[in-house]
Amino acid sequence: MWALQEARLAGGPTVDIVVDGESILRVGPGASAGLPEAIDCAGKLILPAFVDGHVHLDKALIRDELREHDGTLAGAIGAIHEQKRRYTVEDVRARASTVIEESVRLGTTRFRSHVDVDTIGGLTPLEGVLAAAADCADIAEVRTIAFPQEGLLRDPGAYALMEAALEAGADVVGGMPHWELDEGAQRDHVRLCFDLAERFDRDLDMHVDETDDGGVRTLEMVADEALARGFVGRVCAGHVCSLAAADHAYAERVIEKCRRADISIAANAVTNLVLQGRGDRGLVRRGITRIGELRAAGVNVLFGQDCVKDGFYPFGRGSMLEVALISAHTAQLTTSADLDFVLRAVTDAPAAAMRLTDYGLRPGARADLQLLPVPTWSEALRLQPLPEKVWFRGRLVAESSVRSELYRV
Ligand SMILES: [Zn+2]
Repeated sequence: MWALQEARLAGGPTVDIVVDGESILRVGPGASAGLPEAIDCAGKLILPAFVDGHVHLDKALIRDELREHDGTLAGAIGAIHEQKRRYTVEDVRARASTVIEESVRLGTTRFRSHVDVDTIGGLTPLEGVLAAAADCADIAEVRTIAFPQEGLLRDPGAYALMEAALEAGADVVGGMPHWELDEGAQRDHVRLCFDLAERFDRDLDMHVDETDDGGVRTLEMVADEALARGFVGRVCAGHVCSLAAADHAYAERVIEKCRRADISIAANAVTNLVLQGRGDRGLVRRGITRIGELRAAGVNVLFGQDCVKDGFYPFGRGSMLEVALISAHTAQLTTSADLDFVLRAVTDAPAAAMRLTDYGLRPGARADLQLLPVPTWSEALRLQPLPEKVWFRGRLVAESSVRSELYRV
């Protein structure tokens, strides 16, 4: 048993935190009294470790191997095809492990990674990410989503591979209905994904409407299917860009359906800022879903890293603090209440989407924590510091320090 003393919560007061084995035992002023092993945090900020609820570890770090393309979603998918044919399990494993390790240093210990499942790469991406997850099980927890990136109807054979992926250990059923060629096929895609989720008793996390075309409305298909099949609280929809372009009446109707179906929305602003609005002149769209309206309706909204130096996005370093800062800009989140919402979007919101029951900074939760060398969350966002310490399952897994000198006359 050991303790943190005088650690500052994001809400303001300083507390002691007592850790017993993998879990938090007590939180409160003076809670560490009498314990011989204690770390003095001197009023620095303590947070639960971040959760990256939407990332693609299989594609990470392939950017330098790809040909240039037009910067759009379709351009990126095409450029990645050639590289995906060349993937090996060991190559995917090495790249995914690198991103997991870098992310842990930056305070993230839980991930939910989409993994391409299609007739180009087969199960190689999944096998590579599962191997990386096993390699990194001492520092992080990685769950996987079988993701039919090339479509299910557009890519005959992908459905059988999805079944094989779930049998091989993928945790969650993915999807990408808007990628199908017409509305009927989109509806079939949604139905097939829910069929798989029912048969294998898995949650769903789908790429939904990642397009500027407000006429693309698979979010409503997903919400209707979730409500019809009783999949309440078991579905996450990622990106949902076209909702911003759709008319307000549709948006209000479908947001209410998302609320009723308790669908989480992963707004991946970081990637969509560079992907969407590519055809715009003058005012360029931000490519982000209706975060304010979803939030006002009580929908669970999370921010994901999504891409790390892949065909879609040349940047990204597994920093959820960076993701939070960029997302705050994109969605105009600036008030104190807004910044609380931003913190939630990289901690409690992805944890809720993943239905993690042992998450948070509270007694009984798993001791996945990070100590930041700033007094407040707003200062963490502004200054983007490295966490001084990161704990996973109650064990110290990363430590960083930055030395900076200024020499005056
Ligand atoms: Zn994605």
